[in-house]
Amino acid sequence: MTLEEMDKEYVLQTYARNYVNFKSGQNATLFDDSGRDFIDFTSGIGVVSVGHANLRVAEAIYDQVSHLTHTSNLFLIEPQAKLAKKIVELSGFDMAVFFGNSGAEANEGAIKIARKYGQNRFKNKRYKVLTLEHSFHGRTITTVKATGQQSFHQEAFSPYPDGFEYKSEIKDIYAAIDDETVGVMIELIQGEGGVQAFDKKEIQELAPFLRKNDLLFIIDEVQTGVFRSGEFLATQLYDIEPDIITLAKGLAGGVPIGAVMTKHKDIFKPGDHGSTFGGNFLSTRAGLEVLDILESYEEQGLLEEAINYFDEKLKSAVEKHPDIFTATTGIGLMRGIQCKEGDTVQKVIKASFEEGVLVLKAGRNTIRFLPPLTITKNEINEGFVRFERALDRLK
Ligand SMILES: *Cc1c(COP(=O)(O)O)cnc(C)c1O
Repeated sequence: MTLEEMDKEYVLQTYARNYVNFKSGQNATLFDDSGRDFIDFTSGIGVVSVGHANLRVAEAIYDQVSHLTHTSNLFLIEPQAKLAKKIVELSGFDMAVFFGNSGAEANEGAIKIARKYGQNRFKNKRYKVLTLEHSFHGRTITTVKATGQQSFHQEAFSPYPDGFEYKSEIKDIYAAIDDETVGVMIELIQGEGGVQAFDKKEIQELAPFLRKNDLLFIIDEVQTGVFRSGEFLATQLYDIEPDIITLAKGLAGGVPIGAVMTKHKDIFKPGDHGSTFGGNFLSTRAGLEVLDILESYEEQGLLEEAINYFDEKLKSAVEKHPDIFTATTGIGLMRGIQCKEGDTVQKVIKASFEEGVLVLKAGRNTIRFLPPLTITKNEINEGFVRFERALDRLK
């Protein structure tokens, strides 16, 4: 039985999987079982923020699990407290953090906070959260319903929980607020929806409007957070003060983790929320190491260098191919290239893979780039040489 056959026989087939067998990695480079190398412009969908096989993270994890991996949240967890403090300090907000294991779980926490706030704050309980049509907030029954893309609301999985309404643009939110609305949840740069960054002015108008009306502004930073945008939070780039922020993907360099942070620090009482694995020694120790690495990487100006260099290469690739591409999108190291035709995206992903560079899809017509934040100039160069070769093949 080949591994591909084994996978198809024993694993539920929820992905249209590519059967390359990766064996190891080094920063933004992956090696398969034949020793072939690939430049990774995906970092495992924005997860491996400090690169594959990061030695500092590996050593921190080894040190931690050779002492303790898990005890439960019934006892103090030193790296959990330290990671929460670190996240709060990097954010600059007066907030407190709850740890789960994924982005969806972080957003579930955000929705629970919003609903409890809606009960505490208003005479008639408010519970409705407005989200956007091209959003993505997760795959649990509730977060998939919070996701505004109708294609995700398959009849097969119904009934879905109430309490969500979708608008196509930020400017449509104002009129949609009624006496059941408790808040608005958005990504500042939509990821799955097509790598679209919102206009700063629009966001800066919405934030004070919500605050004035005691409505919550929930920012889903599962993809944009942890320096992906160039700042620790995209929220800082947009210069707003949300009520709730969620994090996950890049936070622990590949160890599953999710976090929801809020300025409503007393919203939960013991028993209101919880998670068996959330915030355990393994994931939070990994998170601490990742943040330590990225904080100094950013302070030294290296993140900005990588962002600028990547931007140059991306723009030049687009300029050379006006026949297939229309524009670059995104911010920081969360970037996209829009294709004239949606069909092109899969062709580019396939040809890129064949040339040894990994890229992603987003939305209907966008090729998405989420490289490790620590990607080197050499890796960027090599990745774009291969990407260009892939494009030449399509001709
Ligand atoms: C990936 C993602 C999620 C879901 O995270 P999971 O860890 O897959 O549950 C939620 N929101 C955004 C913006 C994401 O990019």
